[in-house]
Formats: sequence, structure tokens, C-alpha cells
Amino acid sequence: VGNLVFTRRMDSGNIKFNNVNFSYNKNEEVILKKINLSINKNNLVAIVGKTGSGKTTLLNILLGMLKLTEGNLSIDGKEINNLNLKLWQNNLGFVPQDVYLFESSIYNNVSLYREKNSKNLQKIYEATKKAKIYDHIESLTNKFETLIGERGSNLSGGQKQRLAIARAIFADPEILIFDEATSNLDGETANSFIETLKNLKSLKKTIIMVTHDMKLAQNCDQIIFLKKGSIEAHGSYQELIESCEDFKALTNI
Ligand code: ADP
Repeated sequence: VGNLVFTRRMDSGNIKFNNVNFSYNKNEEVILKKINLSINKNNLVAIVGKTGSGKTTLLNILLGMLKLTEGNLSIDGKEINNLNLKLWQNNLGFVPQDVYLFESSIYNNVSLYREKNSKNLQKIYEATKKAKIYDHIESLTNKFETLIGERGSNLSGGQKQRLAIARAIFADPEILIFDEATSNLDGETANSFIETLKNLKSLKKTIIMVTHDMKLAQNCDQIIFLKKGSIEAHGSYQELIESCEDFKALTNI
């Protein structure tokens, strides 16, 4: 099939959580409580909070992986349901903490087996440059044809994350979602990741990420601060520092 695959997508302006409640099991603890949230297109958003506050659960709801107990997720006012879920997911690029790499070339791992034509080669060069892994790939004897070992065993944690970021950029989704995608990056690479995010923002992408990195959060348009499954505060870094003691405490850890 290769270049004959057309991926249908949904318009993706404004993302809304409308009164979302969520429990993993019926009659069990409510993990997310009354979440009301609006994320505009082209915003750079950080989700922060202590371990167990519900960050991953919130991301999984956004990804359409969990069935809501109450409330709904809507895109430009259109509720996500079983019929349009796949269309919604086609807009999303997800970079997990622990990326899945397969035993194949770097080219195939980043492009997901797209045909090797000049257009796609150009695209992979750009994506890997933005993800700050291009120079490393070019330094390898077989460059983009280098085989990645089982589970990416001949790559460092940081290099794997950068390949995952390159894969997401290559796919060119409207919305990029990162789950602690910088946890394995050293300080310098984490700094250049901020540049990558700004770059993506200039391409009119919406970027949503779970992070513990306050330096990253400072560079975001809005921060969603979760505490025990509720949105404790929501605003810019400066607004949260000035208005929320718990957030201030989090930044001092
Ligand atoms: P965070 O990402 O902020 O650490 P999570 O969303 O992973 O928080 O977890 C929020 C709460 O949900 C925690 O109390 C956690 O124990 C619980 N939880 C997470 N995953 C599951 C699951 N699959 N089944 C039941 N409870 C879960």
C-alpha cells in the first residue's frame, strides 16, 4: 500500500473535557473528578502533579483509551463516541515514556515502513534534525540503514526517546502528546527539546505533555495542575506561582 494510504482526520480545533469523572472499576474510587478543561489549537500545554494525581489517566482519556464513567470529551463541540473515535485518534501523535522500537532499520523505525522516496527521505531528515538525533544517525556507518537491536538495545535511553520524538514528528499529526518524554534526556538535550517544542508550535501543532520538568512547564502556554484527581489550578506558570501554594511547593522539590 505504501503511499496509497490516505489517513482521514477530524478537524481538531478546541479540545474539551466536559464534567469528566473516571473510575477504573465500577464502584471503585473515582480517579478523575469533575474535570472541565479547554485546550485551544496551537497551545503548548503541560500537565503536572505528584505521582498518583491522575496525569497518565488524563492522557489516556485524551487518547481515547479509556471509557468515561461520566461526562465526555468533545472536539470543536463534537462529542467523541465509538463512531468517530478512530478519526480523532488519527490526529494524535503519542510519544510514550518507553518507546517501542522493532528490529529493523532506523529508517523503518522512524517512518513506520514508509516507501523510501526522496520526499520521505527529506521528511525523515527534517524530523530527526528537529528531534536532535540526525547528527548521531549520520555518524553511524550505515546511517539511516543501521539496524536497531531487540527493543533498541544498542541505543541509550535518550537516543530512544529522540527516535520516538522523530517518529511522532514524521507522522505529522495535528496534536502531539508526550508522556514524560524528556525523563531520559540529559540537561543539554532537554534544553534543545524546548527549542523543538517551539519549532512544532510554529507549525501550528497543539502539544500536550505530562512532565515533571518545571523548566519545560515554564515554556508552556498553560499548565494544568492535578491534585488527587482534580484540577487544583490551571493557567500560565507565572499565574500558578502567584496563586497556588501547592504548585509553588511542587516547583521547589
Ligand atoms: P500519575 O500519572 O499522576 O502518576 P495515574 O493516572 O497513573 O497518576 O494514577 C492515578 C490513580 O489511578 C492512582 O491512584 C493509581 O493507583 C490509579 N490507577 C492507575 N492505573 C490504574 C489501573 N489500571 N487500575 C486501577 N487503578 C489505577
